[in-house]
Amino acid sequence: MKVKEQIETLREELRKHNYNYYVLDAPVISDFDFDMKLKELQALEEKYPEYADPNSPTVRVGGTVTKNFETVKHEQRMYSLDNSYSKEELLEWEKRVHKNLGNTDVTFTCELKYDGASISLSYENGVFLKAVTRGDGFQGDDVTANVRTIKSVPLYLKDDYPSKFDIRGEIVLPFDGFNKMNEERIKQGEDPYMNPRNTAAGSLKLQDSALVAERPLECLLYTIVGSDLGISSQWEMLNKARKWGFKVPEIAEECKNTEEVLAFIEHWDRERHKLPYETDGVVVKVNSLQQQEELGYTAKSPRWALAYKFKAEQVETILEKITYQVGRTGAITPVANLKPVLLAGTLVKRASLHNADQISKLDIREGDTVFVEKGGEIIPKIVGVDFSKRPTNSVPTHYIEECPECHTVLRRKEGEAQHFCPNDSGCPPQITGRIQHFISRKAMDIEGLGSETVELLFKEGLIENYADLYVLTKEQLIPLERMADKSAENLIAGVKKSCDIPFERVLFGLGIRYVGETVAKKLAKAYKNIDALMAASMDELIKVDEIGERIAESVVDFFENEINIDLVNRLKEYGLQFSLTEEQLEGQTEKLKDKIFVVSGVF
Ligand code: AMP
Ligand code: ZN
Repeated sequence: MKVKEQIETLREELRKHNYNYYVLDAPVISDFDFDMKLKELQALEEKYPEYADPNSPTVRVGGTVTKNFETVKHEQRMYSLDNSYSKEELLEWEKRVHKNLGNTDVTFTCELKYDGASISLSYENGVFLKAVTRGDGFQGDDVTANVRTIKSVPLYLKDDYPSKFDIRGEIVLPFDGFNKMNEERIKQGEDPYMNPRNTAAGSLKLQDSALVAERPLECLLYTIVGSDLGISSQWEMLNKARKWGFKVPEIAEECKNTEEVLAFIEHWDRERHKLPYETDGVVVKVNSLQQQEELGYTAKSPRWALAYKFKAEQVETILEKITYQVGRTGAITPVANLKPVLLAGTLVKRASLHNADQISKLDIREGDTVFVEKGGEIIPKIVGVDFSKRPTNSVPTHYIEECPECHTVLRRKEGEAQHFCPNDSGCPPQITGRIQHFISRKAMDIEGLGSETVELLFKEGLIENYADLYVLTKEQLIPLERMADKSAENLIAGVKKSCDIPFERVLFGLGIRYVGETVAKKLAKAYKNIDALMAASMDELIKVDEIGERIAESVVDFFENEINIDLVNRLKEYGLQFSLTEEQLEGQTEKLKDKIFVVSGVF
């Protein structure tokens, strides 16, 4: 059968490319070629639903909605690990192991302790069946649809896998991807996520698997459970799992004795900051599975394994001054300016103080000697004050009441931790921030205009909002510092060219709070033009897929504001796109009909 073969071949090919890219980190084709093949497969699967496969590479883009995650019992319990915080504790554990096993040789496997969300994956006959969170160890939540979208989880296995087994590991969010997600959030005026672990765990419980698919999650595996596996050691287990197609980190070591274990720990305690994902220690395991069985379990954890926890690196330094930053949305962030200090390999000069509550809870004051830590969070944080070193003339911190930039009295919404400056139309960093957002790559992508130029134009009184960009003249620009003839022309040409930018990106560019790229697309699709959107009520907006109350309220607020209405009207006049094009409208009905999901880039 020809079509069936064609589908099979495409799936096989895509599976390989996925594996190369996400497990081996070594892609062999371009993202574009990959997308083309994926689209081809999607089209075929749509046309021939009789060849559907829940584990086809096309499911990686998600699209399943889970309202309630079903509770599933683990066939074998998922245990915790005993922790140790010192070498002495580790040596004592090793002694106990030797004592319990009698006088035999014991070797160990050392692995990193990945800090993410524990997961158990089930496979039967080489096919991915389900994924369950750890839960209480006895039973967890079925998050299969979401885990299917994680590209390093193999949906089909290779080589000599056993017919039935579970494999356990950790779902993590590498720093790189985490930071990118946060940059996006900050741009959209949302609070950044606190740390990769919580975000990874939260991702597994999202209802829409398409949203999970967009997150750069990875699944690192370390334990296989089942019967008749034909495996005799932990070390062999890692190697087998790797061979079957799982992502098993190369950083692991078979150690003959405690000296080697300690060397591994010391090495990675020093080097862990260079790892792409969070780790909070080393897991030492008795290598032989038979010895593991002999040692058995306590009520909570295996006797054959121990987690050696790294200490969060902490240093003491002086908090010289507390300053306050005003973001694009007016949110105020207090910042601790520190006497520079070396921490986890980087020179730290500033730390986040989060908000007023945090400052008063820890009673942090200027002049204090504070403890700075680099834990799971990317930005160092202050975890406490060394009160014994507090100067005698110290005074409690009085949180600012006025905006440091425009002196408007700050406000704080009920239930929100952050203060904000309500003067959104007159507060300089808010004004320039909005314009900078408007011209940014994912919005209007204006060539020849950068953030610094925006600040300069504002300072010179040439622009007060993004609509003003469209009436700039060359004569106005030439006298500016560092503005040559050519750059003035480029700027004006770039602005003009942005009139072709599609509606959804214009909508994103407007800077409505909580309306990020994805939401803007959804709204553009649902309303098709700005007039319809401006006329929409809260109730109508909420009916749109994935638009919640918070977003709906923000949209309504935005378009109730005279200033914003005026801006939109001006932009319309200048020729910006405020409705979907014929082409987009056509594509939309077609897309709905075929239900094809377009994936771009390294999705
Ligand atoms: P804890 O949550 O502190 O009790 O630590 C136990 C958890 O560490 C286990 O449930 C695993 O999810 C996780 N873990 C991370 N890396 C490893 C690893 N290499 N081997 C075993 N468990 C690990
Ligand atoms: Zn202000």
